[in-house]
Parts: sequence; C-alpha cells; structure tokens
Amino acid sequence: MKAIRVKEFGGPAVLQLQDVPTPQPGPGEVLVRIHATGINPVETYIRAGTYARLPELPYTPGNDGAGVIEQVGADVSEFKPADRVYTAGSVTGTYAEFAVCKKEQVHPLPENVSFAQGAAMGTPYATAYRGLLQRAGAEPGETVLVHGASGGVGTAAVHLARARGLRVFGTAGSDEGCKLVREQGAHEVFDHRTTDHFDQVMKATAGRGVDVIVEMLANANLGKDLTILAKGGRVVIIGSRGPVEINPRDTMQRDAEVRGMILPNTPPAQMASIHAALVAGLENGTLRPVIGKEFPLAEAAQAHQAVMEPGALGKIVLVQGK
Ligand code: NAP
Repeated sequence: MKAIRVKEFGGPAVLQLQDVPTPQPGPGEVLVRIHATGINPVETYIRAGTYARLPELPYTPGNDGAGVIEQVGADVSEFKPADRVYTAGSVTGTYAEFAVCKKEQVHPLPENVSFAQGAAMGTPYATAYRGLLQRAGAEPGETVLVHGASGGVGTAAVHLARARGLRVFGTAGSDEGCKLVREQGAHEVFDHRTTDHFDQVMKATAGRGVDVIVEMLANANLGKDLTILAKGGRVVIIGSRGPVEINPRDTMQRDAEVRGMILPNTPPAQMASIHAALVAGLENGTLRPVIGKEFPLAEAAQAHQAVMEPGALGKIVLVQGK
C-alpha cells in the first residue's frame, strides 16, 4: 500500500509517499481502508520534532481518518467488513491507504456524512467537546466565546455550543472566516485581527462578560481574555504557541479559572462518552463538519504548510478514491 513515511524530523518535505506492506490487524484491532485523512496542527509539531512526545522513526503520521472496515482481527464483533467508520487514533497511522486501529479508536460514520467530514471528527470535534463541555462545563444559557472559530476545532465548538443552547460568539482572522463562522451558527462574530475585538465582546454582553472562552491561541489572547470574563468565568486553553503575560488580579475579581487541556489525557470512559455524543450529533445533523481544503495523499507536505497558514476555513483533509 501507499503511505506517507517520515524518516527524520524536519520541514514538510520529510513527508514522503512510499510503498510499504499493508498492516494486519491483531486481536481487538481492525484494518480500515482510509478514504480521507484529517490534518491537525499537532502533526506538524511532531513532524518538526518540536513536540513533547515524539514517535520512533520512521513513522506514518495521523490519528484521524474515515473509510470502511477492510478486515477485523480476533475478538472484534462490533464491526464487520464494509462498515463505514471514522477513526480517533490509530496504531499504524492514517496518512496511508490502510490503517490498523484498536476497535475503541473506531466509530460508526452515518450514511449522511462524507468520508472527508468523518476525517474531521477524531481530534477536532473530540477536542471541542472535551474543552467546552467536560473541562469548561459550559451550560445552556451561558455565553461562550470561541476564540478562533474558523478552523477545525473552532467550527466544531460552534456547532456543539449551539446544539447545547449556549449564546455563541466566534472570532476569525479573515472576512471569509467571519462569514463562515456566522454560517456555522455563531450569534455574534468578531475579527481577532482587530485589537478592539475584546471591547466589542464586552459591549455585546452589555458589560457583563462571557462565561466561557474556548481559546485556540492563548499566547496571543490569555491576558485580555481574563478581562472579558463574567463572574465565575472559565477559560479553557486548547491551543498556545508560546508564553504570555497575565495579571492574576483579573482572575481574583471574577472568581475566574484558567483550565488547560490536552485530548490524550481524557480518561477512556469519558472518551467513549464523547464519541457516543458525536455520532449522535452526526446522525441528527447538529454536527456538520466543514471541509476547507482537500489534497491528495501524495501532497501531505502541502497540506502541512496549509494548516499552519492564517485564514482557516474549516478542516484540511487528504482524500483518496471513494
Ligand atoms: P486550525 O484549523 O489551523 O485553526 C486555527 C484557528 O486559530 C483558526 O480559527 C485561526 O483563525 C485561529 N487563530 C489564528 N490567530 C488567532 C488569534 N490571534 N486569536 C484567536 N484565534 C486565532 O487548527 P485547529 O485544528 O482548529 O487547532 C487550533 C489550535 O488548537 C492549534 O494550536 C492546535 O495545535 C490546538 N489543538 C489542541 C488540542 C488539545 O488537545 N489541546 C487538540 C487539537 C488542537 P484564522 O485562521 O481565521 O485567523
């Protein structure tokens, strides 16, 4: 089969398409024929060798994908060949024509959802759910600011927050991004390129502040985020690309909390609960993953460049024959 292999850490050019043996599923595992692969920023940090946890070289990247079950290993009764699935984790990597996954890393993909959309679920939607609902504990009737709502996690957070009955504010850094965020259901949209968007958020809450902030770029925003929280407000940090200065007093005046999260820390029972909710959301149409750009598998390097550029418009995926 064809797969992207990384033999050394470095720039996007280290992502090389090669022929490798098709992996075989062991007990409790399935082999998925991958039709679409989700590209996540973390895979660029790992490829560059700058991430805290690195795989052994050589490796095939990727946790997120969607396709059909090709083969099941011993002890797997939950799936059968030809079932449509999305993956949230993989043993052998999803930047490939086939990927072995543990059965708990695979979830049913409803007929009304494309493979490209399925590839947007594993990391972005699970992260948005974990951040918004499990870590921040957002409740219906509260106001949430999705700070960075135009990308993979942000569009997911907007859908989840609307479905849960929150008042949803979202930001983007381009006119098209702002339009997209509004189309996804945000009640109010702000441009995070402007320095006064924090004041605009305060105005939109009549000076009360927001209850929850889902933060995609904490190093740029956390200091100001703490000034636009309501009493009892929570900021959940999903993304950060460097240090930031804050004034701790801004948390004291509001009894506010800053809560970090990283998806792999999710306990297995809570992860199972997240995917049960996500599959239900796909089935009932409240979750509608937005695909921004599609690349063929051979152009994984271009996809890695694209995912780090500004002007996100949903999810970037690699697609293969359907
Ligand atoms: P993505 O699709 O590339 O989207 C990036 C988002 O960040 C876009 O909406 C972008 O908006 C926005 N952004 C850019 N500048 C910003 C600013 N100054 N303030 C607020 N937002 C800004 O990436 P993603 O998959 O959604 O991931 C978002 C971040 O979360 C990444 O840093 C990623 O590494 C991290 N992440 C963390 C976890 C975890 O477990 N903690 C899991 C998944 C992702 P424009 O392009 O419109 O400017």
